[in-house]
Amino acid sequence: MTVNPVAVHRAHCRHVRELMSEYLDGELDSKTAATVRRHARFCTNCRRMLRNLRLTISALRALAEQPTPTDPG
Ligand SMILES: [Zn+2]
Repeated sequence: MTVNPVAVHRAHCRHVRELMSEYLDGELDSKTAATVRRHARFCTNCRRMLRNLRLTISALRALAEQPTPTDPG
């Protein structure tokens, strides 16, 4: 059985992407978080995706932390 490095990489990307939101929430154990970090270091696509996801999450958090703009009273 031959190993296709592209297929291996794609499978790894999929795995890392499934972990990303938990990674950004700090919910992963240090070993799994290191896997995500290590992969993102050499995978441009995942690095970009991780950055976009981080920006999205921080934007959502900022929105959630703001007081309600309309005063119901
Ligand atoms: Zn990747």
